[in-house]
Amino acid sequence: MSDELPKILKYYRNPTLAKSITEKIDELARKIEENIAIMHVCGSHEWTITHYGIRALLPENVQVRAGPGCPVCITPAKDIDDAVKLALDGVVVMTYGDMSRSKGTKMSLQDAKALGADVRIIYGVQDAVQMARKEPNKEFVFFAVGMDTTAPATAYEILSSVPPNLSFLVSYRYTPSIQGSVMESNVLGIDAFISAGHSATITGMKPYYEYFLRTKKPVVFSGFEPLDILLSVYMLLRQIYENKPKLENEYTRAVTWEGNVKAQNAMEKVFDLEDGYVRGVAVFPKAGFRLKDEFKHVDTRERYGLKKGISTEDEYVTGARCGEVVMGLIDPPECPLYMKVCKPEDPKGAPMVSQEGTCWIWAHHKITNLVPKCKR
Ligand code: SF4
Repeated sequence: MSDELPKILKYYRNPTLAKSITEKIDELARKIEENIAIMHVCGSHEWTITHYGIRALLPENVQVRAGPGCPVCITPAKDIDDAVKLALDGVVVMTYGDMSRSKGTKMSLQDAKALGADVRIIYGVQDAVQMARKEPNKEFVFFAVGMDTTAPATAYEILSSVPPNLSFLVSYRYTPSIQGSVMESNVLGIDAFISAGHSATITGMKPYYEYFLRTKKPVVFSGFEPLDILLSVYMLLRQIYENKPKLENEYTRAVTWEGNVKAQNAMEKVFDLEDGYVRGVAVFPKAGFRLKDEFKHVDTRERYGLKKGISTEDEYVTGARCGEVVMGLIDPPECPLYMKVCKPEDPKGAPMVSQEGTCWIWAHHKITNLVPKCKR
């Protein structure tokens, strides 16, 4: 097994194969002639595309833009504010490292920690359950952020047993609804989509079908190695050239039409979908998760009387263009703050905080030039 993994990775990073797919992409792009804008909706895809310089390998008339796929970037300021307030009031708040550094309207959980709050970094919901069990005299809150990839684990814990001193501040987002809304938007000018493979291992391809039927926009579910991305671009161009749009699966080693039905059942038992705010952008229909009424007893908002409902209130530094970066409307260097006052070591917006944020990824790779825009 130990020798197997590098072999597999070698295959998906093979330069000869990459060259041959790139030539095929060139050939198709020349035949299509028109400008093609492709969007992906995943921070891990942005990492691969930037890290391996994939944009530079694509023809001039094919552009790949980063969409709203970074969980930390899209978590509403109100939810961070709620977590900060609880922490300052003496509740132990647990969340992921990146999330703890993203500011709400006033401060981040790390800022609250500097003021004396008990904020703990965890790697998963199981850590949260264990910590709460170990210290039964303290009140614990798990600030549950992320997408459909992390929501099932929380659902399983809630369905098994949760210590009475633990509750969940749920701020999950549902990827198919977010991508679906972007597919239905005519203002962004996106022709085709690379779908997040890891999310689709859970949801399956099925929930995307209704959006596809309405929009007839080409979609390919993609893995995360450089050849996965190149092959996905090729598959999308082929759909466009042949005028046969479809939901296609490049990531066949992990994604199926039905997805992980057990995980979906657990999520459906515990959560309802409701409209969800994507920070700095808009309210997306059915993009947020809400604990069902029967789980009110573990709902942080119920337990501590937090104000419910959507708030789009935010507090951006003057000049910040985070929402436009999140929606792929601009590239990070188009924000006047990029790498001047907003840097990974002193971020002014969520896309520069998270390692899945476009600004952080571009900054990490020291990219300061703009990618030519073929279609805006
Ligand atoms: S550079 Fe900073 S302020 Fe500008 S969009 Fe990126 S995160 Fe936001």
